[in-house]
Amino acid sequence: MVDYGRRELVKVLLHVPLLTVIPVSAFARTGRYMHFYLPPKPFELNVKHGAKKGGRILVIGGIHGNEPGGYRASDMLMDVDVTKGSLLIVPRSNFTSILAFKRGYNGDMNRKFAGIGKDDPDLIQVQRIKQVIRDFKPDVLLSLHDGYGFNSIDTRYWGQSVVIDAERFLGFELGDVARQVASAVNRKIKVKKWHIPVLNTRTFDRDTHHPEQRRSLTFFTLTQCHTRAFCLEVSKQLPNLKIKVRHHLLMLKEFFSIFNVEISPDFDTLISGLGLNHVKKDGFSVDMDINGKEVNVDAGSTIRVPSASEIKMLSINGPRGTFIVPSGVNLNWQRFFVRHDMSFFIKRDFERLARIRFVIA
Ligand SMILES: [Zn+2]
Repeated sequence: MVDYGRRELVKVLLHVPLLTVIPVSAFARTGRYMHFYLPPKPFELNVKHGAKKGGRILVIGGIHGNEPGGYRASDMLMDVDVTKGSLLIVPRSNFTSILAFKRGYNGDMNRKFAGIGKDDPDLIQVQRIKQVIRDFKPDVLLSLHDGYGFNSIDTRYWGQSVVIDAERFLGFELGDVARQVASAVNRKIKVKKWHIPVLNTRTFDRDTHHPEQRRSLTFFTLTQCHTRAFCLEVSKQLPNLKIKVRHHLLMLKEFFSIFNVEISPDFDTLISGLGLNHVKKDGFSVDMDINGKEVNVDAGSTIRVPSASEIKMLSINGPRGTFIVPSGVNLNWQRFFVRHDMSFFIKRDFERLARIRFVIA
């Protein structure tokens, strides 16, 4: 059960007059109401080992929720086989922010790896990611982002770059690896502006322009886990999601080659097949327990329930990244009361696919 701390209650008080969405601790069970429960958000993770010996790569997608190129490219790796080496993928490391399509619904998660408050809604997620790195012990961690702008035309921007915290650290030649990736990728990018330089944030240096990076996932991985780490940045300003995913796959291909991990189908096949797997919008449903009775509810339905109904969302049937999102309710909440009719959206990541409505009869 979610424990509503002081910070949550402040948010609640702001919400109440407008929406009459009421958390458990502040609710008197009188008048017309419905009581909703949501399942915990999934922590998607896949680990694969090839028959042939090779390296170990950890791919982290979606630490920023409004960067779909990174988490959709990671998501594609969930379905491939590994023929050589080992691969672990966490495609949606910040699923709450992905559903909200915000950089950080609870603040920037990539500033929480040096320290995090015990009441922070991202705490469990940050701990899980740290644990995955410690357990899997990769040779390299790749964190996938869609940054702003184009680094090749303005070095203040992070979009289209391979980011390193230092030229070298603990004997890891981060600069050499990043330049090798960048030069191989740039041979395949025709648009000059989209070329991918290496961006060194010089995070360890006293005069770095990016001291905030000392709280990032890559800095944590380097300094606390003694593991190589890179950020792969495509640009938010690329024309469409398919091109963003393509550029991520181009970079991943080179990293996989350097760190000796092979997948099937290979990266060239994944890149040439981009855009073919279309998600059908009518295949979604939710298993619920409504007042003790289990039902399967199709997306698009409107459901009449008596006042004081107890409605538990049990599972969401759809592809990875699908979840049910209550309209106008704090996305960290797993349980709440409402005094009015209520809409939920079936979302796949940032995409709103369908609605389910509850009406108090
Ligand atoms: Zn980012």
